Amino acid sequence: MTSASRPWVDSHTHLFPDGLARAIRQFFTDHIGDRLIHPIEPLAVLDALAADGVGEIWNLPYVRLPGRARALNDAMLEVAAGLSSHDVRIVTGCTAHPGDPDPGGEIERSADAGASVVKLHCSVGDFEADDRRLDAVYAVAGDRGLPVVVHAGHGVSGHTEPDELAPVVNAAGRHPSTVIVLAHLGHRAAVRAAGLVAVTPNLWADLTPVLDELPELRLDVIRPITDRLLLGSDAPNTGRLPSEIVTALVDLGLDAPEIDAITSGNARRLVPR
Ligand SMILES: [Zn+2]
Repeated sequence: MTSASRPWVDSHTHLFPDGLARAIRQFFTDHIGDRLIHPIEPLAVLDALAADGVGEIWNLPYVRLPGRARALNDAMLEVAAGLSSHDVRIVTGCTAHPGDPDPGGEIERSADAGASVVKLHCSVGDFEADDRRLDAVYAVAGDRGLPVVVHAGHGVSGHTEPDELAPVVNAAGRHPSTVIVLAHLGHRAAVRAAGLVAVTPNLWADLTPVLDELPELRLDVIRPITDRLLLGSDAPNTGRLPSEIVTALVDLGLDAPEIDAITSGNARRLVPR
């Protein structure tokens, strides 16, 4: 056990309706092999996260194709409603695809229905974070106070290349009152990504592993941005528990207030109870 105070906020999970969860798990089995520690059943995943120290999750949807966001956004709220008696609080995310008829309107509708976070997945949806058709998404998110979690890049592996970070920085510059959270700290371009977070006031990042790979953590680049970093696990499609990431932060030499900010305080500032 680490000394970091629990409960933590896991700001990057994907507890999905059953059919979608099975399809995604099949993708990982086909492309990645067996490096995952959780089953796909949402209740079992929540129990495992709770046992590890998590008290709240941000449950994030994403879509591959235009026209799919609306039904999935509704289903994410149903997943949360079905687990509302669990000790772990679920903050529900919503998503949009730039090819949707009205991406900004879909975020507005989802926020009205109870969503509190936006997720955009550039590799799965095959688009860029600064696609002009997403301007309304960032604008609505900024107006409504919803952070936008962005998975940058296009690798099937989930990895981000250094030159794939630029569109996220462009989007952040274009929408200075919208908080954009770079998922996985742009792994395997984490050191470069941390430098960009440091000079972009509305750019945050989560420290979510890609499968079992933690983003590269270097004290000199992490310490200046500990007020804008979040803990994430990617459960159920992950090879790591949140406590393993927290242990890495302790080993890095961060102090207790910095770790508490990363593991809960920063997330609660973005999405208050
Ligand atoms: Zn993810």
